[in-house]
Amino acid sequence: LALIGSLAACGGGGAGSGDAAGGDSKAPEDIQVGVAMPTETSERWIADGEAVKSQLEEAGYEVFMQFANDDIPTQQQQIDQMITKGADILVVASIDGTALSSQLQAAADQDIPIISYDRLINGTENVDFYVTFDNYKVGVQQATSLLTGLGLVDDKGEKTGKKGPLNIELFAGSIDDNNAHFFWKGAMDTLKPFMDDGTLVVKSKQTKIEQAATLRWSQEEAQSRMEDLITAHYAGGKTKIDGVLSPFDGISRGIQTALTNAGYGKSIKDGLPIITGQDAEIASVKLIQDGVQYSTIFKDTRKLASQAVTAVKSYAEGNEPEANDTESYDNGKKVVPSFLLDSDIVTADNISSLLVDSGYYTAAEVKAGQ
Ligand code: BGC
Repeated sequence: LALIGSLAACGGGGAGSGDAAGGDSKAPEDIQVGVAMPTETSERWIADGEAVKSQLEEAGYEVFMQFANDDIPTQQQQIDQMITKGADILVVASIDGTALSSQLQAAADQDIPIISYDRLINGTENVDFYVTFDNYKVGVQQATSLLTGLGLVDDKGEKTGKKGPLNIELFAGSIDDNNAHFFWKGAMDTLKPFMDDGTLVVKSKQTKIEQAATLRWSQEEAQSRMEDLITAHYAGGKTKIDGVLSPFDGISRGIQTALTNAGYGKSIKDGLPIITGQDAEIASVKLIQDGVQYSTIFKDTRKLASQAVTAVKSYAEGNEPEANDTESYDNGKKVVPSFLLDSDIVTADNISSLLVDSGYYTAAEVKAGQ
C-alpha cells in the first residue's frame, strides 16, 4: 500500500528510530495522528475522543484531535488543517459520510492512511480501513428490545403469543450517516413479521427511513416530530402509543418529553410507551433505572478506540490492519475492510452487570434519580 511507503520514506530523514522490520520506519513519537470527531453535544463522542486520544498517547503517538460541532464545513476545515500540520495517519468519525471527498483526496495524495471511525465514509476510494460495531445487529437489538418491552417476545427471543394490535411509531437517525441505514434495516427486518401480521401497527404509516429520519440525530427535532405524530394520529387519547423505536438516547429523551407533555405520564408504569435507545448515555441509563426509558444499546467506546489504535499501529509499522469483515461495508466505490465489534442490550435488569462491573460507569453515576 502506498501509505506505508510514505511513512517509511519520511522516516529516512533522521528523526525515525528505524525498527527491525521496516528498516527506516518512524518512531511513534514522530508520528502524528489526526483525529476528527463529529460533535461534543453527545456524550458518546466525548467518550470516544477521550479514549482514542489517551490510548494513542499511551502508545507514544502525537495526537491532534478536533470536534466539529456537527457542522460539515467545520469538519472539512479541521481535516484540511490536520493534513497541513503534517498528520501521518487520520482517524475520522464523519458528520456527513459523503462530504469529505476532497479532504480525503488531499490526504491520499500524500499517502496518509485514513481510518473511518464508527461511521463509514462513502463515495470515495480513499478510505483504507473501518472500525465500528456490527451496525445491522445494533438495529436488530433495538427492535428486539422493543418487542421484549411490549411483551411480544421473551428473553430468548421466542414469541410469547401475546396478541396485538399494539401501536408503535418509528424513528431513524441522520439520513447522511451510513449507520442510520444499517440500524434501520436491522430493526425493520426484525419488526416486519409483527407488522405484516397486524400485531404491530404504525398508525402514521411513516414506515420509510426518509419519513422517520432525524437530521443530525437531534433531540429537539425528534421531540417536535413526536409532538406532530401525537397531534395528527393520537389526539383525544382514544388510541394510545404502546412503543417507539428510537435509534439513539438523545432522540429517546426528545420522544419521551413529547409524550410526557401530551399526558402519557412520567414512567412506563404511569403509561409512557416502551422507548428504545442507543449509546448508554448516562442521562438515559438513569432514566432506565427510573423506569422511564425501557432500553438502550451499549457500545463500549473503549473497545472501539482500542481497535482504532490497533489499526494506527499497523499502518505505523508498515502493515495492514487485520479485518474481521470484508464484505458488509461497500461505500459505493469499494468494499472497505472492517473490524466489527459486538454490542449489548441494556435494560434495568443488567445495568449493573454490563455498565458498572465493566468499569464503564461507577455505581454512583448510574444511581436512579438525579
Ligand atoms: C453512532 C451511534 C450514535 C449516533 C448519534 C451513530 O453514527 O454509531 O452510536 O448514537 O451516531 O451520535
